[in-house]
Amino acid sequence: MKITKITTTIKVIALKTPFITALRRVENVEFVRVEVSCDNAMRAFGEAPATMAITGENLQIILSCINSLKKELISKTPHEALIVLHDSKIGSSSKAALDMALMSLMAKEKKVPLYEYLGAKSKTKLQTDVTISLNSVDKMLHDAQEACESGMNVLKVKLGSDIAHAIEVTKTLSTRLPQAKLLIDANQAWSLKDSLLFIDAMSETEIELIEQPVKESDLNALKSIANATRIPILADESAFNLEDVKRVLDSKSADMINVKLMKCGGLSKAVEILEYAREKNVKCMLGSMLEGPISINAAISLAMAYVDVIKYVDLDSPLLYKTPSEELEFCFDGSFIV
Ligand SMILES: [Mg+2]
Repeated sequence: MKITKITTTIKVIALKTPFITALRRVENVEFVRVEVSCDNAMRAFGEAPATMAITGENLQIILSCINSLKKELISKTPHEALIVLHDSKIGSSSKAALDMALMSLMAKEKKVPLYEYLGAKSKTKLQTDVTISLNSVDKMLHDAQEACESGMNVLKVKLGSDIAHAIEVTKTLSTRLPQAKLLIDANQAWSLKDSLLFIDAMSETEIELIEQPVKESDLNALKSIANATRIPILADESAFNLEDVKRVLDSKSADMINVKLMKCGGLSKAVEILEYAREKNVKCMLGSMLEGPISINAAISLAMAYVDVIKYVDLDSPLLYKTPSEELEFCFDGSFIV
C-alpha cells in the first residue's frame, strides 16, 4: 500500500459558549483536516487545530507544514512515511494530523479498529472531564452546577492570574458541589509565590490535582511546588514530547503528565510517552486542545489502549460543539464515552 494523494481542508465548528483560559478566548474550533489516500483505495483522515498560544501553529502554518512534506510522503508506505514525518522539523500539531492518518491506514491495512491496533482488547467506557471556563465566581459556579446536574462530575476548572479569585472559585465549587472532582488548571498563570498561597489555602479543600501552575520553562518552580504539597502536580505545557516528559519526571518536577497528541506529534509519539509512563508507574491525563471529531476519535482510541496509565481523560471538545458532530465514532452520553 503506497500513498498516492494528500489533501488538506480548513474546517470550523461553532462552540455553544466561548472557551476561556488564562492563555486565550475562542468561539470556534478551527482546524486543518488532512486526507491521505493510497493506491489500494484506502484513505484515512487526520486533524490539527489552530492553537497558536500553545503549539505556535495557526491554520496557515499547519497548511504550509503539511504541504511542505507532501512530495516526500507520496509513493511511500504509511510506515515509511511515518519515519520521514518524524525526522522532519515541522510543528507538533501538523505532525499529529499526518501521524493519526498514517496510523489509521496501518490499522486499516491490518483490518482492525484503531483502538485495537493501539493495544486495546475491546472498547472501554471512559469518562471525560468537562471544562469550566475562566469567568466570574458566580458564572463559574453556575456553569459547574449545570455540569453536575447533567451528571458530569469531573470538572476541569480554568483559573487565571488573580490568585484571590482562583482560591475563591475553588473553595466555592468544593463547598457547593462536594460530589465534584476538581482538576485545577492554571495554564501557567501563577508565580511560585501565588502557587504556594493557593496550596496553603487548600488545606481543608479537596482537589484532585493542580495542572501547570507556573511558566512552562520554570521547572525549578514546578519542582518547589510539587515538593510543597501532597496535591498531585500535573505538567502540561512543560511536557510536550518524550524528552520533556523524561526531564520533568527525572527531576521530580511533577507527579503526572498531561499527554496530548498535538504536543507530542501524534499517536505513535504518544504511545512512546505512555509506555515510558507505564514503565515508571506514573499516571497521566490524556488531554486535547479544542479539537475536531477526527482527532478526538484518535485520542479516545488511544485512551482505551492505556486505561491503566491514563487516570484522567480530558476530551470534552465534542461536548462544547454547538451542534453534535456526526463524524464521532464514539457516543458521548453526558461525560461518558461509549
Ligand atoms: Mg492544561
